[in-house]
Amino acid sequence: QSPNNASSPAAADRLLGGLLSPEFDEGTCLSRYEALRRWKPSPFPVSPYLVERLRLYEANHRRCGPSTARYREAVAQLESGRNADHAECRYVVWLPIQGLGNRMLSLASTFLYALLTGRVVLVHEPPEMKGLFCEPFPGTSWLLPPDFPYKNGFSASSKESYVTMLENDVVRYVDDSSGAGGGANASALPPYVYLHLEQIQLRLQNHTFCEEDHRVLDMFNWMVLRSDSYFAVALFLMPAYRAELDRMFPAKGSVFHHLGRYLFFPGNRAWGIVERFYDGYLSGADERLGLQVRIVPYMAVPFEIMYEQILRCTQEHGLLPKVTNSSEQPRGLRPSSGGGGRAKVKAVLVVSLKPAYYDKLHSAYYTNATATGEVVAVYQPSHDEDQHSEARAHNERALAEIYLLSFCDRVVTTGWSTFGYVAHALAGLRPWLLTPLDWTKMRADVACVRPSSVEPCLHSPPSLVCRARRDLDPVAHLPFLRHCEDVHAGLKLF
Ligand code: GDP
Repeated sequence: QSPNNASSPAAADRLLGGLLSPEFDEGTCLSRYEALRRWKPSPFPVSPYLVERLRLYEANHRRCGPSTARYREAVAQLESGRNADHAECRYVVWLPIQGLGNRMLSLASTFLYALLTGRVVLVHEPPEMKGLFCEPFPGTSWLLPPDFPYKNGFSASSKESYVTMLENDVVRYVDDSSGAGGGANASALPPYVYLHLEQIQLRLQNHTFCEEDHRVLDMFNWMVLRSDSYFAVALFLMPAYRAELDRMFPAKGSVFHHLGRYLFFPGNRAWGIVERFYDGYLSGADERLGLQVRIVPYMAVPFEIMYEQILRCTQEHGLLPKVTNSSEQPRGLRPSSGGGGRAKVKAVLVVSLKPAYYDKLHSAYYTNATATGEVVAVYQPSHDEDQHSEARAHNERALAEIYLLSFCDRVVTTGWSTFGYVAHALAGLRPWLLTPLDWTKMRADVACVRPSSVEPCLHSPPSLVCRARRDLDPVAHLPFLRHCEDVHAGLKLF
C-alpha cells in the first residue's frame, strides 16, 4: 500500500493519526513506516489542530529552509551586523550538548518553541550525529548549512546571550504588551541573540521565561539556542503561549510523546540495529519487559545496592517472577506435553552501559526455574561501559536501545535519566521509576514508583521571579503541572 494515499483509514494509522506528513519517500527512512508496527497503540489521540499546525510549519520550513532564496537573504542580513525590521523568515538554530537523551529533550522543546513563535528550526549536526535521525520535514532539510558562522563557543556569559545583553543594556524589556520592545526599534538590535538554557544548580537562568523577555526575544530574527533541558514544560508557564498549547495538546501529558514520534525517527543505520535485535530476540516472546539501568560516574550507586533495588521493584510489582532454588521446574508448573503446550516466555531487555546487571539477572533465570513456570529470557544488546557521546556508532547504539525500550510492554527506568525519559515517553508508557538512592542510608526505601504521566521531567525549572518579588511554585497554580517523582524540584506536565 502506498503511503501517499493519505485519505484511507489504514494510511492515517500508518501516519500516526495524521501526525506524519504523507509526502515522504519510504526508502530514505525505513523506521518511519516500520516503528509503528512495534509500538503499542498510542494512548493519546492527536489533536486535529496539532496536525494543522505541523502541516503549516512544514510549508513554512520549505519556504525558508536552507537552499532557498529567502534563507540566503536572511543570512546576508545576519552578516550585515544588524537585525532586520521586518523579516519574512525567522530562525532558531539548535546547538547540541550532553548525551542523546538530553539532546532529544532540548531539540523537541526547541521545535515546540519554533511552532509557537513562527520560527524555522535549524539543527547543527556535528559528525557524531550524522544521519542519526531522518529528516522530519518533507521536501526540505532541517540541517544547518555547514558554513553557518555562529555555532561554537557560546556560554552563559557570552556577550550575545540575552541575559548578558540585558545586563549591558543592549536590550531593554517593557512590562506591557505593546510590542515596543523597550522602545528599541528592531533594526537597532544586534543581528542575533543567543538563548542559554542550560541547567545551573537545577535552575535555568532568570529572565529566560518571562513574558516581557519573550516579547524582546521575539524581535530578533535569528536566535541561537543551546540547552540540555526539557524546557517545553517552561513554555507552559507563560500565559502568552497557553491558548495555542491548549489547542495543540488537549492532553498535556502527551507533548513529548507526540513531538518525539514526529521528529525523531532513527536513520537507516540505527534502525538496522533495532530491527535485527527486535526480530531476533524480542518479537517471539509473549511479553517484553524493558529494564534501563543508568549509573552516572559522579554518583555511582554500588552494584549490589542497585541490583537489590531492581529485584525488589520487579518482584513487588509482579514484573518478574521469583526464582526457585532449583534448576528443575516444579511438576505442577510444567507446560502440558501433548497439547503442544509451551511455557510463557517473558523477554527482559536490559539496557545499560554496564554488563553486570545483565550477567547476574541472566544467570539467575538461566540457572533456576521460576516459581510461576514462566521462562524468563534475559538479553542485553550492547555494553559500551562508558558514555562516548562524541562517537557516531555509540550514539547509534544508544538511539537503537531507546527505541528497543520503547517497544516493550512495560519498562523499568532509572530516576534522573533523560535516556529513560525519552524511551518511555516515546512508548506512551508510565514506567516503574527506580527511585534515587538515599545516600545517608545507602538504600532507597521505596524501590520504584509509578510517575503521574509519561512525560519527561524538566530538572531545572526557570525562576519565575521575573520582575516581581516572590518566587511562586507553579504547581500550586497550574492544574496540569506536578513535581517530578525523582527530582523533587523538577516540573512535569500531567
Ligand atoms: P542521561 O545521562 O541518563 O540523562 O542520558 P543521556 O542520553 O543524555 O546521556 C547518556 C549517554 O550515555 C547516552 O546518550 C549514551 O550515549 C550513553 N548511554 C547511557 N546509557 C546507555 C545504555 O543503556 N545503552 C547505550 N547504548 N548507551 C547508553
